[in-house]
Amino acid sequence: MMRRLLRSKRRFGLALMITVGVVAVALGYGGKPAPASQVAATDSGRNVILITWDGVRIDEFLGHPDLGLMPDAPKQLLPYFWHDLAPLGQVYGNTEHGDYMTIANLSFISMPAYLGIFAGSPQLCEDNECPRQSTPTFLERLRLGLSLSKDQVATFASWEGIARAVESEVGATFVNAGQVDAPVFVSDDPAGIATQELVSQSKKDPPPWSDARFDRYTWRGAMNYLDQHQPRLLYISLDDADGWGHQVEYGHYVEALQNYDQWLKGLVDKLATMGEYGRQTCIIVTTDHGRGLGHHWSTHSNGHPYSGLVMMYAGCPLASQPVAFAPPSGITTHLDIRPSIEALFGLEPHQCWLCGRSLVAQGDGKKPDASNERPNLRAAVRPAAR
Ligand SMILES: [Zn+2]
Repeated sequence: MMRRLLRSKRRFGLALMITVGVVAVALGYGGKPAPASQVAATDSGRNVILITWDGVRIDEFLGHPDLGLMPDAPKQLLPYFWHDLAPLGQVYGNTEHGDYMTIANLSFISMPAYLGIFAGSPQLCEDNECPRQSTPTFLERLRLGLSLSKDQVATFASWEGIARAVESEVGATFVNAGQVDAPVFVSDDPAGIATQELVSQSKKDPPPWSDARFDRYTWRGAMNYLDQHQPRLLYISLDDADGWGHQVEYGHYVEALQNYDQWLKGLVDKLATMGEYGRQTCIIVTTDHGRGLGHHWSTHSNGHPYSGLVMMYAGCPLASQPVAFAPPSGITTHLDIRPSIEALFGLEPHQCWLCGRSLVAQGDGKKPDASNERPNLRAAVRPAAR
C-alpha cells in the first residue's frame, strides 16, 4: 500500500496538500481568533464520546499491518472497526479512496496537535512541554453553553500532558490523566473510588515511557465513569500505540491497536444496553499524528511528512434518527473536530480565521454545513490530491 502511494501520481498532490496545510497554519499564528459564541441554539440532547489513539499511522488505521516488520501479523488489525462500525458513519482520511486528513500544526507531534484540536485553531506550540491551553476549549464551552455540571464533561487520559490541552482553567471539567490522583469526589461516588483504585494500580504497573499509564487503566476508568455518570462529553485519550512505537516494538504496537478495536466493540455493546443515552451518543475516533513511512515507522516529526497524515471516524451508530456527516471530499483537518462536536450538541460552531468547519449535516441528514468551509484551501488542494 505504501509503495503504491509513493509511486503513484498522487505523490505531488500529497506534498502540496501538506505544504498548503502547514502554510495555512503558519499564517494562522498571526491571527487573532474571534471569541466563541456562547449562545446555545437548541441543546440537541446528544452525547459525544471522543477517542484519540495517539500516534497511529494511516496504514495501520486502515487495518494493514506491515508484514515486513511482522510477517505473522493478522491480515486485518481493526476487524470490528472496519466491518461493523465504519459503515455506520463516515471515515475521513482514507487515502485508498483519494481522501486525505491532516494535522494542523508545524511540529507533527502530540501537544501541538491536542492544543489545536481542543482550541479549534492552530496554537503556538512546538513541543510536548508547552504550557496549558491559553484559550477556552470546546469542553469548557460545552459546560457553559449547555449549563452542564462539571461531571458531565469528562476526560480520561493515559498521558499526563492531556490535562494541559483539554481546559484552560484547571478544574473547569473532570480530568483524570496519567498517574495523577483522581480529582476529589464525594466519598461514596463509585466512579470516583474506582478511578482512584485504577490510578493506584497503574502506579505499580508503569509503562516503559514516562508521564503516562497503560491504556487498560484509562479505558477501565472511562467505562466505570460512563456507567456511573453518563456524561454528555467523554474524552478518552489512549497512548500505548505511540509509546510502543517509540520503543520500536511493532508487535506491541499492533497489540495496542487490536485492543483498541475490541474496546470499541465493548463500548458500542455497552451503549446498546443504555437505552436513550446510548441511542443519543455519537462516537469520534482519530489520532493526533501519524508515523514515518516504511522503516521510519517508529518515529514522527516534521522531518517525516508522512506522519502529518491522520484519519478519523465520526458516527452515531445507534441513533434512531440517522445523523449524517458530510462525505469526505479533498481534505479534512484536526480543526474540523471542534465545530463538528459543537454542531452535534446544537451549538453554533466556534468561528475564527482558519477555524475548521462542521462536518455534521445540517438538519440531521439533509444538507452538509457549507457555511464555514475554506473554499480556497479546498479548491487549491483537491485537483492535485486526486
Ligand atoms: Zn510520539
